[in-house]
Amino acid sequence: MKISRIELYTTTLPYSGGVYRLSSGRTYESFDASIIRITCDDGTEGWGESTPFGSTYIAAHSLGTRAGIAELAPALLGRDPRQTDRIADLMDSTLVGHNHAKTPFDVACWDAFGKSVGLPVCDLLGGSTDVPMPMISSIHAGDPEEMRARVADHRGRGYRGHSIKIGALDAEGGPSLDAERITACLADRRPGEFFLVDANGGLLPETALRMIHLLPSGLDFVLEAPCATWRETISLRRRCPFPIVVDELAQLDGDIALIAAQDVADGIGLKISKAGGLTPGRRHRDIARAAGLTVSVQDTVGSSIAFAAIVHLGATVPTRLLRCVLNCEDMVRLKTAHVDAQFTEDGVLPAGSPGLGLTVDEDVLGDPDMTWGD
Ligand SMILES: [Mg+2]
Repeated sequence: MKISRIELYTTTLPYSGGVYRLSSGRTYESFDASIIRITCDDGTEGWGESTPFGSTYIAAHSLGTRAGIAELAPALLGRDPRQTDRIADLMDSTLVGHNHAKTPFDVACWDAFGKSVGLPVCDLLGGSTDVPMPMISSIHAGDPEEMRARVADHRGRGYRGHSIKIGALDAEGGPSLDAERITACLADRRPGEFFLVDANGGLLPETALRMIHLLPSGLDFVLEAPCATWRETISLRRRCPFPIVVDELAQLDGDIALIAAQDVADGIGLKISKAGGLTPGRRHRDIARAAGLTVSVQDTVGSSIAFAAIVHLGATVPTRLLRCVLNCEDMVRLKTAHVDAQFTEDGVLPAGSPGLGLTVDEDVLGDPDMTWGD
């Protein structure tokens, strides 16, 4: 079984909530998706997606994703997609870094592998826990009461976790506004709900500590990605009363190992395109498990294809460690595929069809932008 053709599709995913506002004044209205289809010599197909969160989130941007894909595609023709570790090694020896460009190939290989043996990808990754996974909302930064209303809206739609975005510039209100946002968003908390307060690296140790001192006592949340650098995060860690989760900084195997070895944090945000796909994502899951770190399985953003990969990897994280999964499909207005997943009031699970369980809508994708192979 060899990869005989690779196609790249590109499409724009409008954000479903209008304008998404992150720390440091960053805004986003749509996202630029790169989607790969691999076709093998026996006709088996696999799909994968990489959609950066704009160009100002991590060191990934859509034109870079496509340039990286063009660099990698010729090397992958003729390779067996079932040898996922070897495919990852080949990509690493062909192009240093650029995890976001490697991700759609890696995910497409797992999809094809699953279809070739008639098993869902979660089975190939170790098996589903069969415990529905709580989904987490993504509450972009704004006015405190307006953010509280968006938490309530997601609560009404079955979301059990909430990611509250903070990181106000001094000119916007600084630590005082962030403390108000957190207090408002947690005001209607229900039993069983889970709150991540996510600064996306937008705080300094100084502003984070000032914000913490302005909060009322008794609030139950974890502080995600408070600072942009390891030095700042480690400095804050020593003085922060809240559990810390590392997200943007945790990209490589060595980053997860460092978090464990130096006790930098209590959990990780495992974003599949940030990690470079399901192959490294599986390793991050296992390092986190060994170290007792909680895991939120997400992606930078993405459409239905990225969501399917999240569901399959998330289902293999031991329930005790899994905080939530991100329904990125719900964050954008364009559906690229039907995802065979079960949604209940307790969360989501893969439904059991082979591969990623995707039925891709090729009319939405249109013609490929580039093709390699026959
Ligand atoms: Mg985050």
